[in-house]
Amino acid sequence: MPQWQLYVIQNFPTQCQKGHVHIGEYYKKFILTESMGCSCGTTTQTCKHVIKHCKKYTRHQHVLGHGRHAQIGRLMGTVKGIWKLCTFIKRSKAFDKDDN
Ligand SMILES: [Zn+2]
Repeated sequence: MPQWQLYVIQNFPTQCQKGHVHIGEYYKKFILTESMGCSCGTTTQTCKHVIKHCKKYTRHQHVLGHGRHAQIGRLMGTVKGIWKLCTFIKRSKAFDKDDN
């Protein structure tokens, strides 16, 4: 298993819930010189926004599933959900600092 996938499985759900990933929500709390908005135009970039709603990642969001299977709680709280998130993150590069 690649190191980044192990990292995601172990840390991402908690970090996302605390807002500790390289997104606007984090910058709003800790790095005030960085923009808290999303480049799609949304005023505050949150994990939920990136994963579920951001127009920039529409072409990758299908890997997360649909309906109740794509609920944030399932994506971050079940093994299947976390694997889907790993796939989404890998393909979209949504949480790479330089992509935001
Ligand atoms: Zn966005």
